[in-house]
Amino acid sequence: MMIQKKTPSPARLTGQFSICPGCDLLLEEIQPSSTHTPVCPRCLRRLHRKRPDSIRRTLVLSLTGLLLYLPANFAALLTFNILGTATNSSLFQSTLSMFDQGEYLVGILVVMTGLICPFMTLSLLFGVSAGLFLGWRQRWMIIFLHWYHHLSEWAMTDVYLIGVFITIIKMNHSATIGYHLGLFCFIGLVATTVAAQASIDQSLFWDRLDRSKASEHPKTPVATKARTGREAGLLLCPTCHKITPLPSPDQQGAISCPRCGEPLYIRKENSIDRSWALIVTALLLTLPANLLPIMSVSSLGNVSKSTIIDGIILFFQGGSYGIGLIILTASVLVPLFKITGMALILVSIHNRRTSWLRHKALMFRFIQFIGRWSMLDIFVIALLCSLVRFGSLSSVDTAPAALYFSAVVLCTMFAALSFDPRLLWDSAEEKTAKEAAQPGSRVGPLE
Ligand SMILES: [Zn+2]
Ligand SMILES: [Zn+2]
Repeated sequence: MMIQKKTPSPARLTGQFSICPGCDLLLEEIQPSSTHTPVCPRCLRRLHRKRPDSIRRTLVLSLTGLLLYLPANFAALLTFNILGTATNSSLFQSTLSMFDQGEYLVGILVVMTGLICPFMTLSLLFGVSAGLFLGWRQRWMIIFLHWYHHLSEWAMTDVYLIGVFITIIKMNHSATIGYHLGLFCFIGLVATTVAAQASIDQSLFWDRLDRSKASEHPKTPVATKARTGREAGLLLCPTCHKITPLPSPDQQGAISCPRCGEPLYIRKENSIDRSWALIVTALLLTLPANLLPIMSVSSLGNVSKSTIIDGIILFFQGGSYGIGLIILTASVLVPLFKITGMALILVSIHNRRTSWLRHKALMFRFIQFIGRWSMLDIFVIALLCSLVRFGSLSSVDTAPAALYFSAVVLCTMFAALSFDPRLLWDSAEEKTAKEAAQPGSRVGPLE
């Protein structure tokens, strides 16, 4: 329900009302339950999902994930055997294989998303949940939760695991495959990481860590008929969702969230320009990423280089339609969808379109969700490079498109991070207000 006529006191507002992070709509706060998740009536964004027994479950799952982390990464993962010659590799060796190939930038991306961010994510979750379990409320826990919020998207062990399965299916016809302890620990690591991320009730965690008292809630007078946080003179922290009053014009410099320290803006600065720049760069890089070879296979002295599309065609010709479709979706359709989807949203803001707003908001959230899955092909190549090492008999190496393809993934992910979805509603609101101000107009507010 929106605030229209009643002007609640600021203390009541922060206690009983919230602001939608997706569209800035001022909302009456509804307590979530295990069966009911409140949804924003304007952009349909899920506002707060209740997680039962969140602290204890997050603690147990993140600790289990940390215990599995070492064997999953350093124990042997798979063995490939071709004509009596065997090669094996651990996940750690596969992750570092890009450096052996001289692909340092791709190597850094694979190490960050496959090794460092997953470890950081589990460690940060463990630290915060253990602290809360013991009843602590320390500054370092706030820093940990703040970092978790920013790093969790970059932990891609789930994508990596699908990459392992695709590598197994790809090599199943040409090599005898042995499965080792590392693989089973890795499956356990992915399951516990996903479950730990699904267990954390961020709203509960932030509330427990909040040192402020009720009297410290915003004192900014709330405008009558305020529909959005901006109109009510309130800012929502994008990380911890604390509501803070807008700074007065005489207050100089940027302000930070009093709870988590995140810099606060009414809207992300230069959001549209930055998103456009990244989307155009991604589009330009898509050409070399798809036209140049991404992988080079040498077999008995013959070297054959293949592009992303060649690899997909090979799967279809070999009858592996399911895997072909997965690679086609992750490597070709997802990047194209992200680029065209973001471009559509940005053009729509430029033209102040008021139609299909909910669909566009939903599309943006889907773009954010699928962004990381494009890394699939890069993980498969890293695994093949470390496992297919049979000297003159057969070997796999990376080719130039790997770098361009990684850059496309990064540009599209940063474009989504740079974009502020509230701008979609702002531009439509401005147009509606303009039309409503014209004499004889009967235009109502956007919902
Ligand atoms: Zn909303
Ligand atoms: Zn905050």
